[in-house]
Amino acid sequence: MLFLDVDGVLNRTGYRPATSVGLRSWIEPELARRLSDVLRTTGAAIVLSSDWRRGRDLQQLRDELSAAGIDGTLIGVTPVLGGARWQEIEAWMIANDVSVETMVIVDDGYDMGSLAARFVRASPLNGFDEEVARAIISLFEGTRPS
Ligand SMILES: [Mg+2]
Repeated sequence: MLFLDVDGVLNRTGYRPATSVGLRSWIEPELARRLSDVLRTTGAAIVLSSDWRRGRDLQQLRDELSAAGIDGTLIGVTPVLGGARWQEIEAWMIANDVSVETMVIVDDGYDMGSLAARFVRASPLNGFDEEVARAIISLFEGTRPS
């Protein structure tokens, strides 16, 4: 599975939608397409770790991602624990019996603690670009990104 952040990953610094009608407005179509390609290539499902998960149920989030053009399966959201994001991801992995080699994190943050080896950092200036896509695919394929 792919632990997915939104701000700085599916939207870039300075992006402003013409109208804001929720999460869907804040996902750039070009970046949604690239993410969808990666999900198709790897067969990975999505677990949302973004702050956008707060106050929205799973079906609402599925509808938003789908409306934004993301072709993938949202299977869950990480728990809100108030600590570091990687600790929330780790908590979800423990609760769902997920091993580290089957997951990848994409985020524009920096610290992923003990999960750093499975972390692909997106620059918020570029978001989910080709380099990020290649790095994620490489990790899922069990190879080291070049
Ligand atoms: Mg972010």
